This record gives sequence, C-alpha cells and structure tokens, in this order.
Amino acid sequence: MSENGITHYCLGNGEMKCDGCQQEKNWQTLNQMPDALRKPLQAQAQRIDDTDCILAGRPWRVGA
Ligand SMILES: [Zn+2]
Repeated sequence: MSENGITHYCLGNGEMKCDGCQQEKNWQTLNQMPDALRKPLQAQAQRIDDTDCILAGRPWRVGA
C-alpha cells in the first residue's frame, strides 16, 4: 500500500482481536516513518478507536 493511501488507522493496543487489522497495520506503517512524513499523514488520517474497530467487526481486517 502507498503511504498516501492511509486515511484511517487503529492503535490496536495489543488487542488480540485487532491483530491483522489493516488499520493497525497502517499505524505501524506510520510509526516507521520519519517525523517529517509521519506527522502530516497522522494529521490527515483519522484514528479509529480500537474498541470501535472491534465492535464494528473489524471490517478493515485483511485476511492472512
Ligand atoms: Zn483495529
């Protein structure tokens, strides 16, 4: 995925049910970026609360 495609992210917070969640992957991707890239992306991307992510049935989950 392109970093430009990140519009939402989930912190995951180590929740087992959030493992494999694409939004959590986005967060990991963002965190690997230098601040100069990361901050603008995180500013424009919307955080999905990890609880909301789970309650929503993790519609963003990407199968293995
Ligand atoms: Zn999630």
